[in-house]
Amino acid sequence: MDEPQAGQKPVVVAIGGFLCGGGDLNGRVYSFWRIPSAALEGQGFRVVTVSPSPVGSLHDRACEIFYELKGGTVCYGQEHSRAHGHACHGETYDVGLFSAWGKDNPVHVIGHSYGGQTARVLQHLLATGFFSKPGEYQTSAAWVRSVTTCNSPLNGSLLVYSLGERADTAPEVRLVSHGHLLSVAIHALELLDWPLLKRFFDPRLSHFELSWRRRGWRQGLKDVALAVVGKSAIYSQPDNAAFDMTVQSAHRLNQEIQTNPHTFYFSLVGTGPKEEDLLVTPTDTGQTKWVFRVWARLLSLGPGWKGLKTKLVYSALKRLHSWQVGAHASAIESRLGVAADSWSSAGDDGVLEGYTQSHPRVPEECEAPVRAIRSSCASHSTTVHRAPPA
Ligand SMILES: [Zn+2]
Repeated sequence: MDEPQAGQKPVVVAIGGFLCGGGDLNGRVYSFWRIPSAALEGQGFRVVTVSPSPVGSLHDRACEIFYELKGGTVCYGQEHSRAHGHACHGETYDVGLFSAWGKDNPVHVIGHSYGGQTARVLQHLLATGFFSKPGEYQTSAAWVRSVTTCNSPLNGSLLVYSLGERADTAPEVRLVSHGHLLSVAIHALELLDWPLLKRFFDPRLSHFELSWRRRGWRQGLKDVALAVVGKSAIYSQPDNAAFDMTVQSAHRLNQEIQTNPHTFYFSLVGTGPKEEDLLVTPTDTGQTKWVFRVWARLLSLGPGWKGLKTKLVYSALKRLHSWQVGAHASAIESRLGVAADSWSSAGDDGVLEGYTQSHPRVPEECEAPVRAIRSSCASHSTTVHRAPPA
């Protein structure tokens, strides 16, 4: 089953975005991938959905995906783990979802939103030999045949500042912001470490060892109290999803990550101009649904939110974001030199600007896109920003 047969098409690896657990987590299929998976499987591809931490950093998620596919115990790297105060090792996968993965069996990787950035970091770690095991395998960028990003913050997102990250002093988070409340909730979930609760939402941050089983109740409650006053072991430093969605993080990553001349890179850009177009945004699923419902209530916008979950959440986020976005764009311009009006130059998908979804352009434009394809759907386009030589 695992070893591809001659002539069989490559495996497609699907990575979910922020707050989305991913694959068959808790026995539920993350239904965002159901339709694209069925379409790809109908063409002979095998689709594997992976389940990295929905709130972890890009580095940690890429490590988790590697071992989930290849099998073995997740290793985040000693230097990285020491620098960010978490355990070096994470979960163990006795059997990988695609253990035959290698340069002779490369995969196509598709990532939605934050999952697109994760795909890029995964290929970067493969290219730099981060996972290589002498005598067993030597990884390279060639393990990935193509990278497709869908509505991904390739240059960071201004929304993350509206939710609480400080544009001037990230990774610092504003107290009593939505991001701050979410971080406290995540600390509490990790402390309780209660399987019943984690059935609804599992942050999958066990490598930070915040559970009462590891820390004891006294120290665990102290950790939560520190998070309440803005001194979180996770969110006061840059090894988390909130920081990795900032322009500051993308600015650094885009300098580090090299494209591989033998890999195809595609980006799907969503710029729905009308609110009803936001209904196509795929967040109304599985565990995500529960999280967003709560979030919608916290934002407390409008009557009749039942039955309008996705639309409501996106409308709420858009409303929350729209009155702050100008100030964030100005702060980023003065800090990183990205012209403030760039962000509004290509529309948005309701929460994420088309400017950032297109291709890496901060701090410098990557090579000019090879071509842009406008789909029959007026609100979506595809950009091929680097293709292999013929
Ligand atoms: Zn880490």
